[in-house]
Amino acid sequence: MVSERMRGLGTARSVIRELFEYGNARAAHVGRENVFDFSIGNPSVPSPDAVNETAIRLLREQPDQIHAYTSAQGAADARQRFADSLNRRFGTDYTADRFYLTVGAAASLCCVFNGLSCPGDEFVVFAPYFPEYKVFIEGAGAKMVLIPPEVEAFQIDFDIFERSLSQHTKGVLINSPNNPSGTVYSRETLERLAGILTRKSQEYGHPIYLISDEPYREIVYAGVEVPWVPSLYRDTIVCYSFSKSLSLPGERLGYVLVPKEAAESGDVYAAVAGAGRSLGYVCAPSLFQQVTSRCCDLTSDIKVYEENARLLVTSLREMGYHVVEPQGAFYLFPRTLEADDAAFCERAKKLDLLIVPGSGFGAPGHTRISYCVQTDMIRRALPKFKELAESYR
Ligand code: PLP
Repeated sequence: MVSERMRGLGTARSVIRELFEYGNARAAHVGRENVFDFSIGNPSVPSPDAVNETAIRLLREQPDQIHAYTSAQGAADARQRFADSLNRRFGTDYTADRFYLTVGAAASLCCVFNGLSCPGDEFVVFAPYFPEYKVFIEGAGAKMVLIPPEVEAFQIDFDIFERSLSQHTKGVLINSPNNPSGTVYSRETLERLAGILTRKSQEYGHPIYLISDEPYREIVYAGVEVPWVPSLYRDTIVCYSFSKSLSLPGERLGYVLVPKEAAESGDVYAAVAGAGRSLGYVCAPSLFQQVTSRCCDLTSDIKVYEENARLLVTSLREMGYHVVEPQGAFYLFPRTLEADDAAFCERAKKLDLLIVPGSGFGAPGHTRISYCVQTDMIRRALPKFKELAESYR
C-alpha cells in the first residue's frame, strides 16, 4: 500500500516532461535536426565564464571544505553576499538571517507553502501559471484558487481577483516575468495589487502574503522594468533561483527571502526553515552556494532570447497566429488555431513540432513555445509552423 496521491504524481509525468522525453526518443529515430523541440525551459545560453572559473577556483582552493555540509539554511557568508547584492541593487538593508537557501525555486516555493499553510488556507494563483504550483500548494495541504487568464495581455483582471479573496486567503502568488506568457507586471499593476492586499488584510484581520516567484527576474527585454516587489508591498516573500539567470538549472540553487518588514517575519522565517527541515531541503548544494553568491550580480548573455522572441513573434503573426508580445522570460504563449489546444499540439507533433498545450497552464486555447533554443532551430521550424497554420485553412 502506498500513498495514492504520491503514486499518481509519480506515474502521471508532467505534460512538458512527457513531450521532452518524446522529443529525445524521436530524435534517436529521425535525427536531432529533424525534431523541433520547444517543450522545456532549459536555458540555451551558457553560464557566464565567471561561474565555471569560480567553481574551478573554489574546488582547487578549498578541496577539503567545499563539499562539506553547511548550516541547514545555507552558509552565512553566501547568504550575506546575496543580501549585499540585493541591497546594492534595490537600496534595501537585508541581512543574511533573512535568507533560506534551497534547491531551486521549486523547493523555495514548497518551503513557503508548507511553512505558511494552516488547515483551510488558500493561495490565489493567476492563470496562466507554472503547473507545478498546484502540486506544491496541494502538497502543503492548502487549496489553490485559480484566477482565469486575462487573454488580451495576460495582465490582472482586478475585479475577478478581488472577488477571489476571502477570509481563507493566506497568500497570493505572482510570477513576473511570467512562465508561460512572458508578461511582466508593471509598477502600476503591482501598486494596485498591493493596495487591494493591504485593504483586504485589514478587513480580514490577518496578513495576506504576496509570494513573488521570480526565477526570470533578470530576463527582460528592451529595458522593461521589473519592480522590486517587497518595496511595493510589505508582506512579500521572495522565491528566487539561479536556474535561469545564470543558466544553472541542474545545479539546484535558489533562496527564500523573508524581509524583516513582513508581518510576523520571525515566525515566517522559522516556519520556512522548519518546512525545509521537514521536507529534507536542508543545506543546499554547498559548491553552488559559494559559486552563485560570488556571481549573483551577473546574468547570462540573454541577447539571443530577445532575438528569438522577435523572430518568432514577427513570423508567427505573418502566418496568422495571435501572439501577445513577451517582455521577458523565454516563452511565447500564442492562441491555438482551434479551441482544443491538446488536439492542436497533437497536430503539431505530427510535424515534429513539440509545443505544449495551454490547458496545463490554466489557459485553454493557447500553446506554450519555449524559445530558449538555438535561433537556427527556430528558422528551420518556421516552415512547420506555417504548414500547421495552413492545415487549418
Ligand atoms: N517557477 C517558475 C515560474 C518556473 O518556470 C520554474 C522552472 O521552470 C520554477 C519555478 C522552478 O525553478 P527551479 O529550477 O529553480 O526549481
